[in-house]
Amino acid sequence: AELYEPERMNSAGFDLHDVPTMQKIDAARETYRTTQWHAAPLIAGDAPEFSPLPVRNPFRPGDDLGTVSHASPEAVEIAISSAAPWAATPEERGDILAKAADLYEENFGAFFALLAREAGKTPMDQVAELREAVDFLRYYGANAPSKPAAGVFSCISPWNFPLAIFSGQISAALAAGNAVIAKPADQTPLIAHEAVKLLHKAGVPRSALQLVPGSGSKVGAAITSDPRVNGVCFTGSTATAQRIRKAMAENMTPGTPLIAETGGLNAMIVDSTALPEQAVTAIVESAFQSAGQRCSALRCLYLQEDIAAPVIEMLKGAVKELQLGDPWSYATDSGPVIDAKAQEDIASHIAQADQEGRVMFELPTPQTGTFVAPTMIKVDSIKDLEREIFGPVLHVATFKADELDQVIDDINNTGYGLTFGLQTRIDDRVQHVSERIKAGNIYVNRNQIGAIVGSQPFGGEGLSGTGPKAGGPHYLSRFGKVDAVQTEE
Ligand code: GLU
Repeated sequence: AELYEPERMNSAGFDLHDVPTMQKIDAARETYRTTQWHAAPLIAGDAPEFSPLPVRNPFRPGDDLGTVSHASPEAVEIAISSAAPWAATPEERGDILAKAADLYEENFGAFFALLAREAGKTPMDQVAELREAVDFLRYYGANAPSKPAAGVFSCISPWNFPLAIFSGQISAALAAGNAVIAKPADQTPLIAHEAVKLLHKAGVPRSALQLVPGSGSKVGAAITSDPRVNGVCFTGSTATAQRIRKAMAENMTPGTPLIAETGGLNAMIVDSTALPEQAVTAIVESAFQSAGQRCSALRCLYLQEDIAAPVIEMLKGAVKELQLGDPWSYATDSGPVIDAKAQEDIASHIAQADQEGRVMFELPTPQTGTFVAPTMIKVDSIKDLEREIFGPVLHVATFKADELDQVIDDINNTGYGLTFGLQTRIDDRVQHVSERIKAGNIYVNRNQIGAIVGSQPFGGEGLSGTGPKAGGPHYLSRFGKVDAVQTEE
């Protein structure tokens, strides 16, 4: 079938090698260095507000960056009962989403400040995240289908891409003509609130887009178990996706779509023909950029025995150079992890490996802020990884030349299949490995993070997600009306 390629351009973003651009960003962010935000439900009606809770800055514990009022059960009820699919033509929806994209770009100062203060994102990640969000709005908007919408879509997004994934889910559901009820991650409601205000300003009606901040166990559970909801879009852990699927099966019409993008145990294989400098750069970026808090991040590295020792030495050197610190600063390579709970969880995994004598080297950890120093842990195989550790921890295994197929099987047998990286100079091997490996996104001789909307559709298989891939030509098809499903009487 012919794939639709919408006429649009990806955002130009900002060039962080250009000093005037950096100064422009600095000036714009500076206005928001001490701003206090407040996030509250944005619904098509009035409900009494819950008392506000503080929102935390993962780098600067004393930063009073704002508060959030969670959506009460009454607010959630108003959101669901007043939700009305977006009555506009596909062209109008596309124009309004494109207008919102322009507003996002104009608002870069506030977004960058929020990405740093609320989510601990470094300048490089701030720029990449805004670009991706804007690309989603324009891409799905330009691709808005004319077939009927599903109806009401609940969108539940994670804190690791609090603007990009939040906006991607919403804009897809809206482009298809749905009414959206959006629950942002608990940790990052402020940026979501700013984004929804801009979408409303661009012309998305309130009844078609409502924001309900709150916890997964209350608000998330309410909007994924209501029979008036016609579809759910979720990005987060595999365990939560399984809970959502169960709640949907018990409460919703059979066949109600769940579009879930979940975890991974992503591997990279580096064979003895790889270019070491290229491999090391790709490994460091894939494992440690964004403090490893990407579902695409590299978790288990397989080095061919023959080159393992020198590559590990080079890796140690490169990792020691990483600057941990203030996410606001251009000098920072890696910010904190999202909160104390995440920090404890990752630290306990490292402590366990340390007891077993498997930690390859340790770096100092900054004292304030929820930091975890980039860590490398020796393992025999990916089978030693019991679960996804969502942080800057790289597990390293070695393999012999004749064990390649065994390594591929072990990677496939994790049941996950999100990203995979391969470093080799043998063309036949690229063919052989990429045909056998089960992963949604395979990257050869480069890093394995940072998929680009419209050119690298992103999403996995197995335990990693349901598909279709975000930022790709098939994604919107799942947001349309579902034909009645026959059930056995
Ligand atoms: N799309 C992102 C990437 O390619 C990852 C998204 C996620 O972490 O959920 O790195």
